[in-house]
Amino acid sequence: MTIHHRGVRRVQAHHPWVFRSDVLQAEDCSPGDIVEVVSPAKQFLALAFFNPHSQITLRVISHRREEVNRDFWKKRIERALAQRELWRGDRDAYRVIFGESDQLPGLILDRYRHALVFQTLSLGMDLQKPLLISLFGEVLESRALIERNEAAVRELEGLPKQRGIVKGGVPTPFEVREGQHTVLVDPIEGHKTGLYLDQAENRTQVARYVHGRALDAFAFQGEFAIHIADKTSEVICVDSSVSALKAARGNFERNGIRNAFIHEANVFDYLRECQNKKELFDTIILDPPPFVRGKREAAGGLRGYKEINLRAMKILRPGGILVTCSCSQNFTESMFFEMLQEASRDAKRELQVLEKRGAAPDHPVLLSFPESAYLQCWILQVL
Ligand code: SAH
Repeated sequence: MTIHHRGVRRVQAHHPWVFRSDVLQAEDCSPGDIVEVVSPAKQFLALAFFNPHSQITLRVISHRREEVNRDFWKKRIERALAQRELWRGDRDAYRVIFGESDQLPGLILDRYRHALVFQTLSLGMDLQKPLLISLFGEVLESRALIERNEAAVRELEGLPKQRGIVKGGVPTPFEVREGQHTVLVDPIEGHKTGLYLDQAENRTQVARYVHGRALDAFAFQGEFAIHIADKTSEVICVDSSVSALKAARGNFERNGIRNAFIHEANVFDYLRECQNKKELFDTIILDPPPFVRGKREAAGGLRGYKEINLRAMKILRPGGILVTCSCSQNFTESMFFEMLQEASRDAKRELQVLEKRGAAPDHPVLLSFPESAYLQCWILQVL
């Protein structure tokens, strides 16, 4: 597979993707095959999964000419597992494999106590499924292996949606620990694979700073609220999903929390109303879905982030804490910084950054792959 000089530079810098526009000559091979990637001068660069149907036509799996066999994949999986062992402590819900960041392009594996949940989000990785399933069985303990292949990105790879129990079985939903608390998770029917695991450490860290009357905006199942309830007088959880809020209420009961309340609303409308009614808070958490999914959505997405942040800044009391997040891959840290600057200028509020955080270590950032630094969680205080 011969690629353009642009692509050569990217592969040499260890970025794991080569786009279709950089593929000059595709040899006779089938979608999903592992191919050799070479420069225009035919110099070997890497081994990669090939998918002519995807904009990401090549996904690098190795920079060496080596045999890609069972042992190759086993070593990669075991390395990812060893990384998690370094930090996980007694955590029973975490991401075991995070795709490109673990040199396993398109493979996601989460653990929820005794259940493992996987996603194969690239065609090449999807074709390795039988081997992966057998390897998971060999190196990981679990009572059930569940497939949650419904992510929209599979369509871009020409893959169908698939979901189900692949091996074993567990009654669902069941409880997992989140810091000092327990939450209910349903890895088969729940949203995504069950929980937003990438925010797990941010939820405990945020609890150090919060006080007074709190708003958990885009609350989902109230996981932030559970962590801050005992540090605040009350927490109002706003979300547009009735089922997520119902789960939140269950989680409050499960943890004996009486000062957290649910409110079904569009966060944009809710913040506007609070501003109009001069309803103030001491703590606001903004954890929206990704507003910028592709480069084309950048302008609209930026407006969305700015609007919620500006309004939140306006309804925070002096000394108030703003926790503001973005999980948009294309919304970089410097863009987020500028957006916050603009919002604070327009809101006429001075804010100090207490912490700039990312995803938990089970979602590692690969230096050569900036897209893996997708999650931002900033903690600020109104002066
Ligand atoms: N904070 C959560 C994760 C939030 S995910 C956690 O820590 O687990 C984003 C949530 O925003 C989803 O629950 C979704 O239902 C909700 N949502 C998306 N757009 C919304 C909107 N405009 N108004 C209110 N909720 C919205």
